[in-house]
Amino acid sequence: MNLLDDRYSRQRLVAGFGDQGQEKLQARRVALVGCGALGCSQAQLLGRAGVGKLTLIDRDFVEITNLHRQVLFDEQDAREALPKAEAAARRLRRINSSIEIVARVADVTAHTIEGLLEGADLVLDATDNIEARYLINDVCVKNGVPWIYGGALGVEGTVMAIHPGQGPCLRCLFDEPPPPGTLPTCDMLGVLNVTPTITAALQVAEALKICAGKPTFPGVTAFELWGSYFRTVKVERNPSCPCCAQRNFEFLEMGRAASGATSLCGRNAVQIRPASEQQLDLEALASRLASAGKVTNNGFLLRLEVGAQTLHVFKDARAIVKGTDDPAIARALYARYVGS
Ligand SMILES: [Zn+2]
Repeated sequence: MNLLDDRYSRQRLVAGFGDQGQEKLQARRVALVGCGALGCSQAQLLGRAGVGKLTLIDRDFVEITNLHRQVLFDEQDAREALPKAEAAARRLRRINSSIEIVARVADVTAHTIEGLLEGADLVLDATDNIEARYLINDVCVKNGVPWIYGGALGVEGTVMAIHPGQGPCLRCLFDEPPPPGTLPTCDMLGVLNVTPTITAALQVAEALKICAGKPTFPGVTAFELWGSYFRTVKVERNPSCPCCAQRNFEFLEMGRAASGATSLCGRNAVQIRPASEQQLDLEALASRLASAGKVTNNGFLLRLEVGAQTLHVFKDARAIVKGTDDPAIARALYARYVGS
């Protein structure tokens, strides 16, 4: 093959990456947990770089407020309320048709995470909540799979590559997550679009190092944009870490909040998880609900507008109820229109 005709030629030319790095990248099976701003940028970079398989996992659908930073989506996706994982996969397949792309429209919980991450040999964090990160840490340390933490908010970003057995894990740094509701979210504080873009690029840089067989940075990289502040802090492994030393995977084993209603902080929305696993026939549900309000079905989720609330019901029977922060109201609507 003529080197310059190759899609990846400019990447292969990079000293320290080369043909070997490219081949290793093409053999990698990477899972992205979350498909918001971080996930879109990670997916785009890894997809263009030629990762072998990319699994995109997300529970949500595209909204107009996502578009300023979630670079794989457009206005049509928001009008159709497409699930983010599906919309991102569609766009990415047009960018690089030579890689395997799998979309998983699903909520990451203690019950689902091991199935969702099965087969992945590298995991990138693109979640928006700390509970999911402790779950990722448990699964990845348990299975010896490297993962890369990323957090972006306002004008600040943080990245940490976790290579089980070789360096610190998330719980070496923070033994316990902060209490629920104590951390701000970008729905509350906002976020400049460059913040997740830079954060995702730093995460992908660590991912490319892993693919090229180079050591990742054993600690935290953090930046703040108003002050042009950028620094790295080494973190030592905690020899008595409950996770990577004692192999206590309590977040995974406790299976917290497997079902129920959760207010999605700052979004005026509540997510309902069904008590048991099931698959809905959205067409049948759409015809059943035709007289209840305005119903649309995009094949991935059904929208039902009733008064001030809109129910978004996914195939896996989850629902996101917009227009209320009150789990009781959301649960009542779900029970009335979908079932209990
Ligand atoms: Zn640890």
